[in-house]
Amino acid sequence: RTVYVNGEYVPEEEAKVSVFDRGFLFADGVYEVTSVLDGKLIDFDGHAKRLERSLNELDMDMPMGRDALLDIHRELVRRNGIGDGLIYLQVTRGAADRDFAYPEGATPTVVLFTQAKPGLADAPLAKEGMKIISIPDLRWGRRDIKTVQLLYPSMGKMAAKAAGAHDAWMVEDDHVTEGTSNNAYIVKDGTIVTRHLGNEILHGITRAAVLRFAREAQMQVEERAFTLEEAKQADEAFVTSASTFVMPVVSIDGVAVGEGVPGPVATRLRDIYLEESRKAAI
Ligand code: PMP
Repeated sequence: RTVYVNGEYVPEEEAKVSVFDRGFLFADGVYEVTSVLDGKLIDFDGHAKRLERSLNELDMDMPMGRDALLDIHRELVRRNGIGDGLIYLQVTRGAADRDFAYPEGATPTVVLFTQAKPGLADAPLAKEGMKIISIPDLRWGRRDIKTVQLLYPSMGKMAAKAAGAHDAWMVEDDHVTEGTSNNAYIVKDGTIVTRHLGNEILHGITRAAVLRFAREAQMQVEERAFTLEEAKQADEAFVTSASTFVMPVVSIDGVAVGEGVPGPVATRLRDIYLEESRKAAI
């Protein structure tokens, strides 16, 4: 694979980042994951805008303009022959002598790589549905910044795996915040419910698109916190993320949601999302 590191395209074996990089020492960096379908980028502009917002929240600037960033994404897709897959982008504050305070004038580290995922949009799990467990949300309080600090979500995925489930939803004050790497939704009496935006969750790019498509299709949407109990008694549940699109959830802590199979709303939203996103892909 060819990867991009600080202005250069290099074979992955030759790519180097300093041991003093603050991404490595302090998780002082942010990331984005953009999906690629048929060689085209899904919602590139949404991801570029969120990247800028995450960086700004940490007093960092965009390392380059939107068009230069797009060129790098496209060049990696081309060089690595990606049909369906993902592009991972990470920007850290850069290397500096270890000190908690932000260094003056450090040069940001910019890394991008691809992951080939043939058949990404036809994941068998979309037909089967995900089993999830609940865990307390023990992350920090600025989950709206997409930092590379992902150890707690990793622990959550491991706990899910150990319980024979696919993923975990995180719960704070009895209310679901989000999944370990996705936004969480329930459907009750035809209304789609998902947590309102705030510092407690990541502002999903897929979430924004899915809510727009749902409203355009005259579906009822409520942006508010819901409890774990409500979720277990919902008609349907699902998650959204750039890498899984819309993914039905069929059980929570061993309790079947609705009929215990992917529901009609989640299935329809997945179809609409994929169709519209492919049309708008660049
Ligand atoms: N919440 C969390 C905690 C995530 O890690 C992600 C995916 N990175 C999402 C939500 C979904 O965001 P997006 O739709 O932009 O991929």
